[in-house]
Amino acid sequence: MENLMEKIISLCKRRGFVFSSSEIYGGIQGFYDFGSLGVEMKNNIKRLWWQKVVQERDDVVGLDSAIIQNPNIWKASGHVERFFDLLTECKSCHKRFRADHLVEELKNSGKLDEVGLYTEKEMKDITKVIEKIKCPECEGKLIPPRQFNLMFKTFVGPVEDESTKTYLRPETAQGIFVNFKNVLETQRKKIPFGIAQIGKAFRNEITPKNFLFRTREFEQMELEFFVKPGEDEKWFEYWVKERMRWYVEVLKIRKENLRIKVHTKEELAHYAKACVDIEYKFPFGWGEIEGIANRTDFDLKQHQKFSGQNLEYFDEKENKNYIPYVIEPSCGVERIFLALMCEAYQEIKGGRTKTTKPTKEVEVLLKLDKKVAPVKVAVLPLLKSKKELVEKAKEIYQTLKPHFVCQYDEVGSIGRRYRRQDEIGTPYCVTVDFDTLKDSTVTIRDRDTMEQERVKIEELIKILKEKFENV
Ligand code: ATP
Repeated sequence: MENLMEKIISLCKRRGFVFSSSEIYGGIQGFYDFGSLGVEMKNNIKRLWWQKVVQERDDVVGLDSAIIQNPNIWKASGHVERFFDLLTECKSCHKRFRADHLVEELKNSGKLDEVGLYTEKEMKDITKVIEKIKCPECEGKLIPPRQFNLMFKTFVGPVEDESTKTYLRPETAQGIFVNFKNVLETQRKKIPFGIAQIGKAFRNEITPKNFLFRTREFEQMELEFFVKPGEDEKWFEYWVKERMRWYVEVLKIRKENLRIKVHTKEELAHYAKACVDIEYKFPFGWGEIEGIANRTDFDLKQHQKFSGQNLEYFDEKENKNYIPYVIEPSCGVERIFLALMCEAYQEIKGGRTKTTKPTKEVEVLLKLDKKVAPVKVAVLPLLKSKKELVEKAKEIYQTLKPHFVCQYDEVGSIGRRYRRQDEIGTPYCVTVDFDTLKDSTVTIRDRDTMEQERVKIEELIKILKEKFENV
């Protein structure tokens, strides 16, 4: 669909899913606020992940560690030394770019020989490549790339100097590694087992872009799954399959919009033995929504070295100590949110309701999965002017509220109200009409089929619950 991203951004703003952060002050690049519908949908995504990764399993437990941690953690993990991107800037227009992104774009454009670069080896020397290409904005000259650490710095306590400097976490994973022993001892877990965490992460990205895809503050859902060395490859394969299944079977993302990208040896992070990305086909191209890495024993070994604490595991069966290997599936809530929006957005030209006269109107239908939809049920009196209908509808709304996220709407024609609910993906509308007053029944309108079913009010909660269970 043309301009799909613009349409989604506009819908998110218009209907209260997502706002630019600090908007009344002109905004702040790379930060977003989630409105009343956005927060419900985000909570649904997090709940579905937690349910699959923690709640339904015997071998994973949860954790919620602090965002600000001892700065030595980031020295041990390699983030102080190595968590940087290469930044380049245009000498004329002063726009900044990630050097590796410019190189990637060049590779994808197929115009390598135009700038006189032929071999893979030449491409690897990023400084040389940047020398040969021009600013994509104004064709000006680019300055040689320099390293730029992505961690946000802050100070703990009233004095601001090197000794009080620390960072906002750039990933939630390290909070898990440093609590490995605590969890092991208190939960009496045996390897293989995992620790999962959902929480904010912060990266001072050089060029935040593509709406929620690349932001400076986001939420991660990460699992560190500890295994016996030698069994790591088997578990790596297991988690890649398991995570793909979640996207297809639980979130109902179409298979053709997902793919797995295997990292080559050169692309692997310093700590990883193997890594794959699960990518989604966004309107701007394929983009990573989840990374699954075999982090080996790198992190626990580093923390053992830097903290001086023994982080070995005693394997009773084998009667020996070892540092476990770690398989890490790590995904971002906002990237999944955006993928689900892209997946669900539909426009129906001429309207959904068949009228004799074709209209020019374009109706938006957000076909979100029922489990993900922010509002589950809307209650609508047929006419606002009829006091009895309004009273009855409000009474029904109050009885449904403890069970479902509900909206009550009496403004505008019934057709307009259905369209408003379709636009935010509400699976069911309950309509109170004149028959309701006579025989205590209401209609349930299905978002996708637009079929209406008449049911008794006393059975409404039960019937709606069944509809949400059968997904
Ligand atoms: P990229 O290469 O796109 O910068 P990454 O490989 O650095 O991503 P990871 O460190 O593997 O990302 O982080 C795990 C997950 O966290 C990603 O799959 C993504 O869903 C999410 N994530 C990472 N960076 C961002 C960001 N700047 N904005 C939103 N989500 C992010």
